[in-house]
Amino acid sequence: MPQAAGRKQRPEVSRVCPHCATAFEPACGRQRYCRTECRTEANRGREVKRAAAYYAARRERIIKEHQAYNAAHRAAIAKRRAIYRVAHRESAAQYQAAYYAANRDRLNRQARAYYAANPAKVKAQKAASRKAHREGNNRSGRAWYAANRERILKQRVARYAAKRDKLAAQKSVRRTGKRLSGAATKQHSEAGWRP
Ligand SMILES: [Zn+2]
Repeated sequence: MPQAAGRKQRPEVSRVCPHCATAFEPACGRQRYCRTECRTEANRGREVKRAAAYYAARRERIIKEHQAYNAAHRAAIAKRRAIYRVAHRESAAQYQAAYYAANRDRLNRQARAYYAANPAKVKAQKAASRKAHREGNNRSGRAWYAANRERILKQRVARYAAKRDKLAAQKSVRRTGKRLSGAATKQHSEAGWRP
């Protein structure tokens, strides 16, 4: 058959992979992507887009369904969460510590801003939390102090030293001011000095 012969003689057509834009020779007529990975990735992207469109179209309804589900299963969800928290306590604490260390400045800034905007609320929350966790707080506070004793003492000494210098400087300024204005200082009065 001349037609079949013609097809056989036709040179191989190269294609461009729609995912990675590489030119390739298809092994069969239906091959669209150059590699399996490209096909998988391209399909994954399509799946993600489809899921996003699905969610966007049904957003309100999905949220309502979730709320209804949560309301109906509140106790079971709380129990599951509690179990999860206990099982992941250590890794969660590590994660939180790392997160705090990495975002310390921003978190402190946010906390200060929140406190400035809601002082009464923060105070009430803190008091309630203290009351609810008094025993645990005392216990973990003691453990924390024992673990960080040296650092805490060093900080105290440094703070005291800084304050002492400041207080001494203030006192000296006051004394000099009195002397210049001709008023007697306490020491002057005690020594019987008169301006
Ligand atoms: Zn490709």
